[in-house]
Amino acid sequence: MIHPDTELRLSNPQIGLGVFATRFIPKGTLTWVRDRLDQAFAPAAIAQLPSSYHDILLKYSFIDGRGHFVLCWDHARFVNHSCNPTCRSAGYDFEMAMRDIEPGEELTDDYGSLNLEWGFDCSCGLRACRRQVRPGDLLTYADDWDRIVAEPFKLIPTVPQPLWAFLDEKEPVEAALAGTTPIASVRRNYVDVAEILCGLPSLDR
Ligand SMILES: [Zn+2]
Repeated sequence: MIHPDTELRLSNPQIGLGVFATRFIPKGTLTWVRDRLDQAFAPAAIAQLPSSYHDILLKYSFIDGRGHFVLCWDHARFVNHSCNPTCRSAGYDFEMAMRDIEPGEELTDDYGSLNLEWGFDCSCGLRACRRQVRPGDLLTYADDWDRIVAEPFKLIPTVPQPLWAFLDEKEPVEAALAGTTPIASVRRNYVDVAEILCGLPSLDR
């Protein structure tokens, strides 16, 4: 579920739609939480779907740490990539604001953390642009991304959290906030996508 203070707008004609803040969203706010209305498809379930569904799933879903394709039910599925995104994940099923997000600013994510099926050339235009975003980026940059996430994570209890009620992982998050466990690394969300695609020849291009 995407944060309620967001809406769909045209990002630009090349990229299409994107998700934009309608109000100020402070750093440390949960901007997306995986909820029970999101659909998760195991590879075997995708193999059973008519192939006409496959392109839709590939375009709008991401692959979670269990190797399931997750299709968000709301406009979360339109969040675009940035190499310096406003939102990131740690090793949980939620994303949070890495910095204050102003009204009218686009919410973005790093697709390198979402178990991409294939890499793509990036033209986000930022100084931090990696030019190519690859399926292995999650492992390559995990230490950097874990470091970036640590500070906003600590702000979770200090800012309004309209999505907290939908979070299924309250206990591990609270334990990390209390310092009794480390913040889970984004590595926890990694799967070997090539292995998954091997079992789905109709998706393997
Ligand atoms: Zn880029």
